[in-house]
Amino acid sequence: LSVEDRLGLVSFVIDGEPHIIVKEKFCKDCELKVCLKVCPAKLYEEENGKINFNYEGCLECGTCRIACGKLEWNYPRGGFGVNYQFG
Ligand code: SF4
Repeated sequence: LSVEDRLGLVSFVIDGEPHIIVKEKFCKDCELKVCLKVCPAKLYEEENGKINFNYEGCLECGTCRIACGKLEWNYPRGGFGVNYQFG
């Protein structure tokens, strides 16, 4: 299976509370915007200079946390988040 095929097998239990908070006050002056490049699930998008983030598909890899350093990043609450058991 390709990586994309494997990711298609991953399931999620969506929490109503985002576990990662993007802080716009830092994003607007950020020149690198590494979040757009590093997320393997491509959950960060830029639109008119603003970063949009969709936490529901997060793989909990932690890459954006390390690459950015300005995110409020937590694992989802217990019982929520990614489920790899079928992937
Ligand atoms: Fe993307 Fe990984 Fe960050 Fe989740 S933790 S948003 S999958 S880079």
